[in-house]
Amino acid sequence: MIQSEYPTTENAQQEVADAYDVIVIGGGPAGATVGALLAEWGHSVLILERNTVPRFHVGESLIPETYWPLKRLGLIDQLKESAFPKKFSVQFVSEGWKESAPFYFDEHDPHESSQTWQVERADFDKMLLDNAVAKGVTLRSRAQVLDVIFQNDRIVGVKAKLLGASGEDSDVKEIRSRVVCDASGVSAFLSSRMELKQSDPLLKKGTIWTYFRGAQRDSGKDEGATLIMQTEGKHSWFWYIPLRDDVVSIGCTGDMPYMFAKGSSVEKTFARELDRCPALGKRLENATRCLDFFTTKDYSYRAKRAAGDGWVLVGDAYGFIDPVYSSGVLLALKGGEFVADAVHEALQADDVSEAQLGSWKEGYDAGLENFRRLVYAFYAPNFSFGEFLREHPQFKSNLVDVLIGAVFKPGVSDMFEAMGDIRPTPNEPATPDAITEV
Ligand SMILES: Cc1cc2nc3c(=O)[nH]c(=O)nc-3n(C[C@H](O)[C@H](O)[C@H](O)COP(=O)(O)OP(=O)(O)OC[C@H]3O[C@@H](n4cnc5c(N)ncnc54)[C@H](O)[C@@H]3O)c2cc1C
Repeated sequence: MIQSEYPTTENAQQEVADAYDVIVIGGGPAGATVGALLAEWGHSVLILERNTVPRFHVGESLIPETYWPLKRLGLIDQLKESAFPKKFSVQFVSEGWKESAPFYFDEHDPHESSQTWQVERADFDKMLLDNAVAKGVTLRSRAQVLDVIFQNDRIVGVKAKLLGASGEDSDVKEIRSRVVCDASGVSAFLSSRMELKQSDPLLKKGTIWTYFRGAQRDSGKDEGATLIMQTEGKHSWFWYIPLRDDVVSIGCTGDMPYMFAKGSSVEKTFARELDRCPALGKRLENATRCLDFFTTKDYSYRAKRAAGDGWVLVGDAYGFIDPVYSSGVLLALKGGEFVADAVHEALQADDVSEAQLGSWKEGYDAGLENFRRLVYAFYAPNFSFGEFLREHPQFKSNLVDVLIGAVFKPGVSDMFEAMGDIRPTPNEPATPDAITEV
């Protein structure tokens, strides 16, 4: 079995001072991006990560538009030299077996950005953090932020528990900063406390995922492709993400009551859905599971505010929408750029007001909205992308734009007018046989 816990690395146990320009809560892609860019401008930045570094994380499939923030961070050469499988396309499989032609990203844009990677997040996220540290960020792992410090309604720092390398307890330390940036991922530290988190009522989904070794792979250019495979009856879908060393990440997503039915186990539910996806069953015929099962649920939400006086949210800590289009890391990196730019301006102007720190919200929300509408279309019971494109071939390029993550491009949203108000049915009830089987 692959270990799901990674050992502590000493390099992340740096000394922590009493004050910084910016404290970042969380060392995922969003936190590492904000940190690296702000440090590049000469601001003092502390990243506090409650976990060890590297740490295991779901979300291995990148999409092409990650190229641009990764380029700005100076990481493209490292990625090119890495052993991460190259991803050139995404392929959809409907009704458990009907494979559509892959969407090759370079047919849309021949630029090198059309090729991206499938990454183990422990290594990829560490690459981002190492880069942030190289640019001057202080990184402290095993450092859990427990609270924020308010002064006249403005956040001016955090209280954090800094554990030693072997986990020994420590006192809670107060650390001051001009800005606190919450990049704490789905735990959404600040927006949960401030009750800003709003779940998407139409995307109450849950996921079970694991890794297999020895699965059947396509060859050549398709070897690193992501497959999105709907099961018969469309109650769930699987991702198939080929990783290094003959490992494939496999995850199954469906409505929460369907995925986590009373009296069931994740093993049984996973096996039940696999039976409904012959195309995946065939690929896994000679494969062996090499990781525990993991679960997660109710992860589509957005915060009502993006910032306040002295604080700002970024990445999943602000919002996340369903894994189907692998948008999370892109949004964490792009969001990291938006937030770093806004914080830099705020520090230069000595204005850490909500208006300044949240100045990116409108533009970012517009991009997020493009992903949300395409996710709604994917789950809408009577919608077919094939039919839509046959009726409206002029929108193929808009569709591919969203699939590659070019959601901030002007005009991308035009296609949604033609689609109309399509939406999934909330918490679609499972068929009775599906529930009683498990
Ligand atoms: C089922 C599923 C599948 C997904 N698949 C994909 C995919 O294939 N491709 C993709 O691009 N995205 C995918 N995603 C989304 C992606 O994983 C996230 O969007 C991405 O990790 C967000 O980055 P982040 O930096 O905002 O948060 P994270 O990567 O979650 O980092 C947040 C960090 O904050 C730390 N933290 C939390 N609280 C505290 C605290 N109080 N003090 C200190 N540290 C703290 C955490 O330990 C964590 O390391 C998927 C998501 C789900 C739910």
